[in-house]
Amino acid sequence: MKQLGIYCLMILGLLGSLPAKAASRSTPHAQPAEIYIIIDDMGYRATDEQAFALPKSVTFSILPHTPQGQSLAERAHAESRDVMLHLPMEASTNKPLGPGAITSSMYAEEIIQTVESALTSVPYAIGVNNHMGSVLTASGQALQPLMDVIKKSGLFFVDSRTTRFTVAQQVASENDIPNARRHVFLDHEQSEDFMNTQWQRAMALTKTHQKVIIIAHPHPGTIAFLLNKLSSSANRHFALKSMHDFFAAPGEVQREFATTNNAQVSVAAPN
Ligand SMILES: [Zn+2]
Repeated sequence: MKQLGIYCLMILGLLGSLPAKAASRSTPHAQPAEIYIIIDDMGYRATDEQAFALPKSVTFSILPHTPQGQSLAERAHAESRDVMLHLPMEASTNKPLGPGAITSSMYAEEIIQTVESALTSVPYAIGVNNHMGSVLTASGQALQPLMDVIKKSGLFFVDSRTTRFTVAQQVASENDIPNARRHVFLDHEQSEDFMNTQWQRAMALTKTHQKVIIIAHPHPGTIAFLLNKLSSSANRHFALKSMHDFFAAPGEVQREFATTNNAQVSVAAPN
């Protein structure tokens, strides 16, 4: 026991003599869990602009061919915020999919043209996630032409997981496309109680997952909720990160993705 005490004192003394950074690196739990927030369904409403109040590491995913889509993408890019394409995909519900949607009844060439055109309408997109898509993401055959475009354009794919039968992430992996999945939807019910429950669910996941992806929507109530959760930095147990960080190799400061017009965009280092 006495010996243990001496060892502890020795270790404490050693840590005290190290620069703060080196000491924290040597602590096993020094790396906090990473939270990634994607605000999607953006592009239709003037109020979507309110999402710019959120920290710059919050990623925006924008619907193609929408009235605000291009200007939102340009403003987001100007402030070094990650932009994604929120691509509508065939669903089992009767809700309209909106322009730029892909369906399983399309020929492969038609899917390719639709996705390429959607990407042109959302400049600076570095990745894609699905809007709806409970039918299409369960069809490996219809996903292949989509993945062909994603791969050719140097983008990543995030499966929003709107059905448990989705194979989208698996098809992305088979195509060697950087990919991830949504863990928690924050606000498909618009009440603070519901959002709190979902937020707690995400926080619980950080105990078992190093990276947790939350998808939310640009409702004024959601933005107010997130501003509150993200501003209380005193009790923050996670690091809020941009989606490009998700795919950056450890120690890699920058990563380049091809933009839709084939120019290279250098993504700013995390801030
Ligand atoms: Zn959506």
